[in-house]
Amino acid sequence: MKKVLMSACLLGKRVRYDGGDLTLDDRIVARWRSEGRIVSVCPEVQAGMSIPRKPAEIVSGTGDAVLEGEAAVIEKEGDDVTAAFIEGARIALDLCQRFDIDLAVLAESSPSCGTISIYDGSFSGETIPGRGVTAALLSRHGVRVFSQHQIVEANDAILAAGA
Ligand code: SF4
Repeated sequence: MKKVLMSACLLGKRVRYDGGDLTLDDRIVARWRSEGRIVSVCPEVQAGMSIPRKPAEIVSGTGDAVLEGEAAVIEKEGDDVTAAFIEGARIALDLCQRFDIDLAVLAESSPSCGTISIYDGSFSGETIPGRGVTAALLSRHGVRVFSQHQIVEANDAILAAGA
């Protein structure tokens, strides 16, 4: 049975920058859990960042640009935390490779986990199209990434693969 990588905050773990979570109450995810299908990851915390931690956003680009060295992840007060975000993405990729995972469900808009949109770097709550650093790295290695708003689509992909 194929496993699914999921953002830890969606599973109720209080790992967000503000110490909160984004618990997803979903019957499909509940079934995945009962099947033992889910592997949890919080790229930022597993890269050594604290809970709580200062908010950070990608400035002047997307996760793809960060991976190419063309954009940075900056905390609200101005400190550069790009290296930790890249390390977190590598940790998530390592989990996918270790457990033969090719599908992930990640928390939308996060500078690590966003799959369709990310915050725009202005710390104003505005978003732009693009992927976070972890979502970008996983995608580049063949992992299909879905947001928490695409659970049905993710489940359909699992069913289509007979996994
Ligand atoms: Fe961790 Fe990703 Fe959730 Fe942010 S969105 S708290 S990096 S799992």
